[in-house]
Amino acid sequence: MRVVTVPCLKDNYAYLVIDDSSGRAAIVDPGEAAPVLEAVGREAVTLAAIWATHHHPDHVGGNRDLLAALPDLEVIAHHHDRERVHGLTRTVADGDQVTLDGLQARIIYNPGHTLGAISWWLEADAAVFTGDTLFAAGCGRLFEGDAAMMHASLQRLAALPPSTRVYFGHEYTEANLRFAAATEPDAAAIPAAIAVAAARRAGGEATTPSTIAVELATNPFVRAADAAEFGARRKAKDSFR
Ligand SMILES: [Zn+2]
Repeated sequence: MRVVTVPCLKDNYAYLVIDDSSGRAAIVDPGEAAPVLEAVGREAVTLAAIWATHHHPDHVGGNRDLLAALPDLEVIAHHHDRERVHGLTRTVADGDQVTLDGLQARIIYNPGHTLGAISWWLEADAAVFTGDTLFAAGCGRLFEGDAAMMHASLQRLAALPPSTRVYFGHEYTEANLRFAAATEPDAAAIPAAIAVAAARRAGGEATTPSTIAVELATNPFVRAADAAEFGARRKAKDSFR
């Protein structure tokens, strides 16, 4: 497996997930089509599938144009998003397996940001695509679910092997780390993470991917002791400047 990060829109990330043995690929969360088609051409791969993490337009807004260019694409999302994702050819549920040649993904249902939110976990490749559920040092807002739901979803992701790379949906890392430092001034790993993120951004690089190990050490939402603490932190972050 090879992952190519495809910046979309203002601060979204789509990911081209390539099976090098076949030269076929899936695109996770194409917020728009043009940069995805450009990456597909540059990498000289065949795009075979759209893997959606949830229905928001900044994650699936490119579906229509991608399907116009490539009508045979498989389009997969959670069954809750059946009516909310353009061009769906298959719906999935928690635990389902999705195969694309040598790529094997397992679906982790993680409601909270939305009620159709899923992560795509490629265990053999030690990678997970989390959309707007788990960010570097942050998590998505609770648009459809509640705090208990999101807390449980994050705990499931946190239980993945620590070396798992976390490919998240937005470049919010520096702002998230500022909140993390204010929330947990005694968490020793946060200042180091701030330095790493600042260096990457200064060099024009993305901060994605993170790892589960880094999130366990720096992410105040993953580290929340229980759903009540999670809920309080989520509320505080909503108005943090
Ligand atoms: Zn979203």
